[in-house]
Amino acid sequence: MFRNFKLVPNVIFGRGCFGQLDEIIGKYRGNDKSWAVFVTDDVFKGKALEKRIPMHDNDMLLWVNVDDEPKTGYVDELTLQVKAFAQGTPCAVIGIGGGSSMDLAKSISLMLTNKGSSTLYQGWDLIKNPAVCHMAVPTLSGTGSEVSRTAVLTGPEKKLGLNSDYTVFDQVVLDPELVKDVPDDQHFYTGMDCYIHCIESLEGTFLNEFSRSYGEKALDLCRQVFIDEHEDKDDKLMMASFFGGMSIAYSQVGACHALSYGLSYVLGTHHGIGCCITFDCLSEFYPEGVKEFRTIMEKCRIELPRGLVKNLKEEQIEKMVTVALGLDPLWENCLGRDWKNIMTRDKAKALFLKM
Ligand code: NAD
Ligand code: ZN
Repeated sequence: MFRNFKLVPNVIFGRGCFGQLDEIIGKYRGNDKSWAVFVTDDVFKGKALEKRIPMHDNDMLLWVNVDDEPKTGYVDELTLQVKAFAQGTPCAVIGIGGGSSMDLAKSISLMLTNKGSSTLYQGWDLIKNPAVCHMAVPTLSGTGSEVSRTAVLTGPEKKLGLNSDYTVFDQVVLDPELVKDVPDDQHFYTGMDCYIHCIESLEGTFLNEFSRSYGEKALDLCRQVFIDEHEDKDDKLMMASFFGGMSIAYSQVGACHALSYGLSYVLGTHHGIGCCITFDCLSEFYPEGVKEFRTIMEKCRIELPRGLVKNLKEEQIEKMVTVALGLDPLWENCLGRDWKNIMTRDKAKALFLKM
């Protein structure tokens, strides 16, 4: 069976295109009572961007905090706040921020039309009703959340996304001017998330021409950003993120993402840095990619934290292994159908102990 996957139907790209957001939302506004919700990373409180959010009188500005990556409990709480704000459902939910804020916006838009807690929908195609119209305005490039069919959430039992066709954004606003104040280390971690998406897709057994076409272009863009330090690097990384997301949509990520999920489940390590810590230990599986990654890391003067796992309790390490090995498709993509014979619990544990 071939996957018939849903694409984002509308994309606007260009420096300053955020200025057109009001007009774009306008198409979804009905009568004078209609209202939109701006799910906005609180890092922008008091910053110039706050004043540029095209709020109308009835609209809701919902600040979100992403010091911790999105949890199901937080999504449920935010959804209740939106429901209590006004009658009916909003005409649009607009996520402004990095992968975390975009995933929160996706999740809220889904939970406004689907009953119960978001924990009920962690998995594949469990969402029953279409979401409220939702839009993404990335302010940090790399995760590919702007094009993906998932919203990654950590719940009481698992870290697993709300994966469905309804999760895909209705509109994406790609304005490279919005990423200019991202701190250097964050730019590296989230940018490397994109780099790793490309390597895992291009080196994987699920590779096909669709994924290769997007993955090769995204990887080329990453190199222009991080190796050549191209003057248009913000524009380039924004497109790399988009294309990297397109590449994995029709293939899969691999060993690095599987292990990093284990790490972040137990330690709360954020996605970008978690992927970097993990990838650095995977030269056995991605020799060329890891070599180039280390060159970039040196160029960016990044020092990764080390020794995160060795002093943990045995049961915590075992939990990491269980979470990581639960991600069958990622391992199959990396190592082929026979992966269980290669990536044993002992092998996975040994890799964690290097981190
Ligand atoms: P993030 O959204 O967690 O943000 C990281 C930090 O950067 C935060 O402190 C944030 O406030 C700050 N920030 C964002 N934009 C900024 C700006 N313009 N200026 C200054 N600071 C800014 O980081 P991320 O790496 O983009 O996202 C990680 C999240 O994305 C994780 O929760 C991960 O699970 C998720 N993810 C989702 C997908 C998907 O397909 N849905 C894919 C990969 C990762
Ligand atoms: Zn990733």
